[in-house]
Amino acid sequence: MLESLKSDLVAVARRAQHEGLCKHKSGNFSIRDLDSGLLVVSPTSLDRDQMSPRDVVVMNLDAEVIENESGLRPTSEVLMHLEIYKARPEVRAVVHTHSAYATTFALLNRPIPAIVYEVANLGLTRARVPVAPYGRPGTPELARYVREAVTEADCVLLEKHGAVAIDERNIYEAFLKAAYIEELAELYHHALTANQGREPDSFEPEELRKWAYPSQITFPGAR
Ligand SMILES: [Zn+2]
Repeated sequence: MLESLKSDLVAVARRAQHEGLCKHKSGNFSIRDLDSGLLVVSPTSLDRDQMSPRDVVVMNLDAEVIENESGLRPTSEVLMHLEIYKARPEVRAVVHTHSAYATTFALLNRPIPAIVYEVANLGLTRARVPVAPYGRPGTPELARYVREAVTEADCVLLEKHGAVAIDERNIYEAFLKAAYIEELAELYHHALTANQGREPDSFEPEELRKWAYPSQITFPGAR
């Protein structure tokens, strides 16, 4: 069941691993099927190059396994995914990474400010990537903290742990957001380093809300 979503999940999991966002089996992924309300979830402890759609687990929002063709268990961090889908009914995909620069600021418990305009696409209502307080991975406590954080933004850090990106369209867009978080974190790191640790200027939330490509950019000769 849900074969095309399983294939999408495997494709993104492999890409995340190859691009260095999810090294050494870290991170996990899920997609919600809007028709059935069911989720496809990445399995625990499996190298992404070995992963096939058969290994992807189908679950419901009550954390019951509906199908696991190859007998693998869902990721140990699935509670966090479930709470995100409950908190944000429109969300269709969740990508969780342990990417290095984002995790650096997560372990410092330091939100990342909106310092480049691309973050206008990251759903940051307070012009920052917030940090969800520490909770042990896999616990209801962490899931609750993340649930609160995703009401503020589509991209959040998990204290002492990693990052989460969510999207209302599909898992490819959630993956892009995860990649942007890492890029933003790297730029922020470099800006702090080049500026003797002083904060770079960042956007106000109002400015981010106003930034809209189609209405504000015109091309010479365009009709
Ligand atoms: Zn994790």
